[in-house]
Amino acid sequence: MTASALALAPELAHGLVDRFGRRHTYLRISLTDRCNLRCGYCMPPEGIAWTPRPSLLTEDEVVRLASVFVHMGIDKIRLTGGEPLVRRDLESIASRIAALPGLSILAMTTNGISLDRRAASLRAAGLNTLTISLDTLRRDRFLEITKRDSFDAVMAGIEASLAAGYAPVKINMVVMRGVNDDEIEDFVTWAQDRPLQIRFIEYMPFPGNHWHKAGVVPWSEIRERLETRWRLAPIAVHPSAVAKEFALVGHQGSVGFVTSMTDSFCGTCNRLRLTSDGNLKTCLFHPAEQSLRDALRAGADDDAIETQIAYAVGLKQAAHAPMEELTRLGNRAMVEIGG
Ligand code: SAM
Ligand code: SF4
Repeated sequence: MTASALALAPELAHGLVDRFGRRHTYLRISLTDRCNLRCGYCMPPEGIAWTPRPSLLTEDEVVRLASVFVHMGIDKIRLTGGEPLVRRDLESIASRIAALPGLSILAMTTNGISLDRRAASLRAAGLNTLTISLDTLRRDRFLEITKRDSFDAVMAGIEASLAAGYAPVKINMVVMRGVNDDEIEDFVTWAQDRPLQIRFIEYMPFPGNHWHKAGVVPWSEIRERLETRWRLAPIAVHPSAVAKEFALVGHQGSVGFVTSMTDSFCGTCNRLRLTSDGNLKTCLFHPAEQSLRDALRAGADDDAIETQIAYAVGLKQAAHAPMEELTRLGNRAMVEIGG
């Protein structure tokens, strides 16, 4: 065996290096497909049939699968959904996952509703980083986009998160042409003197979300717009990072761009996803799924689950299809997958 093959051997033995040499270290766990908002870009207008509770992973099942993944080499886990805060056992799940030896980062993506009461307890439970989704700074527009009048609750959640010491608090804004692209500069101004990182996300297609190519605002266009008013200085990030990040010279806040549509980052992908009903997805945009829940419930031991995970990782595709083709692939809605 050559020296380089030997160097790769431990990861290969653990099964998280795929046939393109990508080493997977980041797992996103969806805790539920339920949500208290109805964002049109995420959920079909008629809603989805919520997964029956007995089909969702229990707290013990989530923690057991997380521990198997961490044993295989995952060192970062993000809790997501649906809306993770609708799970009453979230604090308990967070503290048990945060305590897994080998895990470095426990993150969460949330719409922020009820964070005014829970940001501090989640931090105490071991949550290190927090991303809150907010697509507009206008109450009336928030109602149009989410179909719920919860703007004040989200803003209170953001303030509570800053007060609880998460720094930065990341803000996910899905930029949609003709919907909220007139607020790009307002978000940057908002971050001027607070530790917020505004992450501009390119609008992605999912079944039933009425995506259209003209609605995508390419990250390069946003960057050019910002550079007419601010100086952007690139921040060095991990090679597998989802966002391109920039400091704003003279600002406390920063910006990031999630460029999945116009500059996809499949070649350095290190991410795996576990849906709330226990399916492993190796790509956000690919419909292939493997049920780890069924294996667990059939009595599989950790070794057998590792083998199943390794098999799925071995099948991962080199890259996702072009954006125009993605809606035809029979994928699930974003709210069901977990972002
Ligand atoms: N409910 C939580 C929230 O809204 O943050 C977590 C789940 S949500 C599916 C995760 C992230 O996916 C959010 O930041 C949301 O804005 C983003 N998202 C949903 N649909 C999207 C789409 N079609 N294109 C781009 N981002 C999307
Ligand atoms: Fe719910 Fe988040 Fe989807 Fe909005 S983006 S509908 S808050 S899961």
